[in-house]
Amino acid sequence: MKLGDPVENIPRIGPAFAKKLKKMNLKTLSDLLFNFPKSYKDFSKISPIKNIKLNEENCVQGKILDIELERTWVKKMSLVRALIQDQTASVQAIWFNQSYLTNTLKKGEEILLAGKAVIKSGRIYLYSPAYEKVSLKETVHIGRIVPVYQETKGLTSRYFRYILKPLLRGLADKMPETLPEKIREEYKLLDFKEALYQIHFPDSMETAKKARQRFSFENIFFISLFSCKKRMENKKEKAPSIPVNQNIIDRLTSSLPFELTKDQKKSSEEVLKDMEKTWPMNRLLQGDVGSGKTVVAVMASINAVKNKNQVVLMAPTEILTKQHFKTFFNLLKDFNVNIGLLTGKEDKYYSKKLKSDTIEISRQKLLEKTLKGEIDILIGTQALIAPKKKKKSEKKILFKSLGLVVVDEQHRFGVKQRAALSGKNQDKIPHLLSMTATPIPRSLALTVWGDLDLSLITQLPKGRKKIITEVVTEKDREKTYQFIEKEIKRGGQAFVICPRIEANEDETAEIKTVEQEYEKLSKEIFPRLKIEMLHGKMSAKEKEKKMKDFRAKKFDILVSTSVVEVGIDIPNATVMMIEGADRFGLAQLHQFRGRVGRSNQQSYCFLLTESLNQTTRARLKAMIKYDNGFKLSEIDLKLRGPGDFFGIKQWGLPDFAMSLIKDAELVEKTRKTAERILAEDPELENYPDLKRRLEAFEEKIHLE
Ligand code: ADP
Ligand code: MG
Repeated sequence: MKLGDPVENIPRIGPAFAKKLKKMNLKTLSDLLFNFPKSYKDFSKISPIKNIKLNEENCVQGKILDIELERTWVKKMSLVRALIQDQTASVQAIWFNQSYLTNTLKKGEEILLAGKAVIKSGRIYLYSPAYEKVSLKETVHIGRIVPVYQETKGLTSRYFRYILKPLLRGLADKMPETLPEKIREEYKLLDFKEALYQIHFPDSMETAKKARQRFSFENIFFISLFSCKKRMENKKEKAPSIPVNQNIIDRLTSSLPFELTKDQKKSSEEVLKDMEKTWPMNRLLQGDVGSGKTVVAVMASINAVKNKNQVVLMAPTEILTKQHFKTFFNLLKDFNVNIGLLTGKEDKYYSKKLKSDTIEISRQKLLEKTLKGEIDILIGTQALIAPKKKKKSEKKILFKSLGLVVVDEQHRFGVKQRAALSGKNQDKIPHLLSMTATPIPRSLALTVWGDLDLSLITQLPKGRKKIITEVVTEKDREKTYQFIEKEIKRGGQAFVICPRIEANEDETAEIKTVEQEYEKLSKEIFPRLKIEMLHGKMSAKEKEKKMKDFRAKKFDILVSTSVVEVGIDIPNATVMMIEGADRFGLAQLHQFRGRVGRSNQQSYCFLLTESLNQTTRARLKAMIKYDNGFKLSEIDLKLRGPGDFFGIKQWGLPDFAMSLIKDAELVEKTRKTAERILAEDPELENYPDLKRRLEAFEEKIHLE
């Protein structure tokens, strides 16, 4: 058998079960083998029947004195009762709706049972216990530590064990080792076949843990190899080398209405240096909302333009692109550049000849100018500039000499996508500057984001007031509403954020909370205020209109789901109230908080929570203590694990590997090992198995 064989070809798996397995996304032998148990039950200790502990799982071994089937006609249930005896005592076992047991288990047989002991009408019962005959050479379900799998209707852990045990025995010797021996020794890891066996059928909890460690390590190691390799491959690409024009940088710096922060200076130096190289920059600029990332992009852009390169900037929403357009043309007014804004309807153009204002221009014209190189900087949404799927009627946007791509809050924009924009000049890949307010903890930056270089802006510009943050429980809800009303009377505006109910519930549930909250606030709490709502089911157009109206102060309170997270500047908003704050990640809460406090007014953030258990308390307290997104994300990673840091789910890591990612030290060491191996042997010629696994891994993960 081969790892890729479909499950229906596996002996003992019939068509009905094959179908069920496929429904669980377990399609091949390999899927089945790598479907690791979610937990274990320790059924290794057999206790004398007289020592059975009530309301606990007990394992016993004894002889079946009697077994019989009863039908309870009222509820149309069948009931199997058995009386089991060992040298110390006897106990009743009962099973519901498993009438076949009277055919499987016979009077006089010696069996093992494991199940919860309950007391009913003064008698002790083992309630629907797991069972296994002692006559078997080796037990699978009892008398050992047993694996517990993710179950669905008709697919029980018992079934998985029944299938896996013989498979593992049979296959173990044919499984190739994927980690070089040197590394296994260095990290004291179990070998592959031992780990695979032990993760399913561990000899002890200790070996189960070691097996998990081995596979977690392997996952992190592959990610590290993968990102190191990408980084190496990137250096083989060609990019336009854009020298630093210090003159123009100095001119821009001194024309700014503010002084750059230390981090802004450092980040722009890093960016400019990268762009001098002959291979494409791949840099992520991370900084909190309001930390001033845009001006770094402006500096990189003007330097590119003055070296006869075009620049494209893409943002997720139309409003954001307009905001950027405004910033760019304000800051670059005296720098003799042409800037285009592509919105889909009212495309705009700022020409150096006009100097003072913008003009409307047809899309056709804008595209022509871009191709001719008459537009220096083009700004638009990614959906317009590089759509994933293009309508036939839409013309492709091509540049004459694209040197820099800036993406705001989109994280990735791959080499191929960048090349595509360059049209004829596809042999040169434009540099990439990706800007994000999502803080990336170091261990993730080294693994999942390991192919990117990181620049950080950790300080906010001078003069910003710290947002006052408070944790609010139900008893203080009234007071908070009163406070909000006062703030609005004073002239401010407020956000109210509602969480999704459950990550996997359908979206209607999400809307309902927003709708309910909206109803409650507008009818009961603030009948005299103007309130609107916003949620993910609305069209992009509707959402934009709501945000625009909010910005124009056409209403006072915006009740919204997390869609406002990547949003626009509403300088007049001074209150951020977050319902169910404990359900959000700290980095996300921090992002919400960043929506206020964007003017010289004092702003407030209220974190509402019903539960205040220890973790919640610790997390929300951190929100009060720190106003640094980077720090907060590190804390969250420690307290909660990585969850779904943007896009990390697409890496398809098992949960336990995700939890190892928390271990920054291990991650760092693993990454060094990956770097070392690739430095010695870039094509992995000495590690054929590793190479094969890495290729499979690459196939599974599509980043772009
Ligand atoms: P973000 O990092 O969220 O994209 P922006 O670039 O939009 O932040 O900057 C937020 C605001 O801060 C803008 O109004 C910008 O003009 C201002 N700003 C940027 N840098 C500084 C600075 N060094 N000193 C004062 N204000 C600054
Ligand atoms: Mg920004």
